[in-house]
Amino acid sequence: MHMFAAAFNTETNTFSPFPTGERHFRLCHREDFLADPARIHGLGCLTTWQQLCLEQGHQLTLSLSAFAEPSGRIVRRVYEKLRDEILADLRSAGNVDVVLLDLHGAMAAEGYDDCEGDLISRIRQCVGPAVVIAVELDLHCHFSAAMLEHADLMICYKEYPHIDINDRAVELFNLAVRTRAREIRPTMALFDCKMIGMYPTSGGPMHDFVQRMVDHEAQEGVLSVSLGHGFPWGDVADAGSQLLVVTDDAAELAAELARELGLAFFALRGTVEFASLPLEEAMSKALASPHRPVVVADQADNPGGGAPSDSTHALRWLLAHKVAPAAVAVLYDPEVVKLAMTAGEGARLRVRLGGKMSAESGDPLDLTTVVVALAGNHQHCFPQRQGEDYVFSLGDTAVLRCEGIDIVVSSERGQCFSPCILSDFGLDPLRYKVIVPKSTQHFHGAFAPIAAEIIYMAAPGAIAPIMQQIPFVRVDTADKYPWNDSPHGPLG
Ligand SMILES: [Zn+2]
Repeated sequence: MHMFAAAFNTETNTFSPFPTGERHFRLCHREDFLADPARIHGLGCLTTWQQLCLEQGHQLTLSLSAFAEPSGRIVRRVYEKLRDEILADLRSAGNVDVVLLDLHGAMAAEGYDDCEGDLISRIRQCVGPAVVIAVELDLHCHFSAAMLEHADLMICYKEYPHIDINDRAVELFNLAVRTRAREIRPTMALFDCKMIGMYPTSGGPMHDFVQRMVDHEAQEGVLSVSLGHGFPWGDVADAGSQLLVVTDDAAELAAELARELGLAFFALRGTVEFASLPLEEAMSKALASPHRPVVVADQADNPGGGAPSDSTHALRWLLAHKVAPAAVAVLYDPEVVKLAMTAGEGARLRVRLGGKMSAESGDPLDLTTVVVALAGNHQHCFPQRQGEDYVFSLGDTAVLRCEGIDIVVSSERGQCFSPCILSDFGLDPLRYKVIVPKSTQHFHGAFAPIAAEIIYMAAPGAIAPIMQQIPFVRVDTADKYPWNDSPHGPLG
């Protein structure tokens, strides 16, 4: 078969003051892949699909890969340019059998609340009804009517942290091949759970719910089950948690199971959300622990959800309470990195650090530091359960030490996924009393094995996981939990 694959992936925080421009995207164009086939590594779905094409003897046309660290709406002409590049590649690819798309599902641009629906429907227009369109989505997605109408198959990650990107890519690929071979006829149904929230799957009832979805996939006629958690900071009409079931030509079964599992998930409300502590409480709890390292996640400043990632609230607390040794990663401050790169390792450096990007970032800190380590264009790995790590660029990166606190400072915004953010610079993560990753939950996969304790912290910041604080305009919260405890009526 002839496969066509593209990735266009960012999670839009519609409340962010910073629009997503072209230079926010890490771009790899069709001609880049042709000129340097090694560019395929570290790209998640695309990497996996390319390996499967090689193993199974399918032809692959690689189109654009575009990923941007979450920010505000994509500038309209940038969205349209990248979208049209994928469409132009598709037109020039000749006859294709399957279109594989790595999309987020909560991407918004100026004038487009539903970029994925727009892109998928234009691809359908281009290829006609016979070609299979198969889409892998982040679980923080918003399903739309357009996506459901024009895609044949959609599968979300099941795990938060997203350690199963490659697992789902394999499933999607295999189902797409079987669909094109007419062995199966995917039929999708969606159930609106009417909930807005953040639901980690690393333990508790969400862990069990993921297993329940997996168990149903073994049921006769059921091809795939996904829970789209939704992205709370994407203020669009389709926002919220939705349960998607794909069956083999069994519309009634799909609808029934989507409703059954959707209501089962709704029944878990209040038990599946983050239990995040305010800054003072979280940090005091960490200090009281006799063990190390205690990992305190600065959820409110996670760039992966569109936060600026230069907030100083947690670092200021660590300095004020003379907590050492401690580490904070990753703080975005390109000017400070430039100074550190110029000064070199071992240099003493007085800096005005962080607190520059937004009102939520707090005030900058004036610090005397030592440049402990430097890396040009540092690549940070997000380990996956199987297959290659997903790799993200932090740009030039410096580790500055101030009063026993190591601060990893980057020149590109990027989330802290793993303790290798320290070990890559020759620093032993186990030596720290407290480590503060700027991450909501993705840190969990790689930090849990080394953490004595993990504490979720809702410090002041752009995206503290407190739904009632989000100033929604387009989402009808009156119809959704936690604003409404019975949006499904007595059945809920
Ligand atoms: Zn996500």
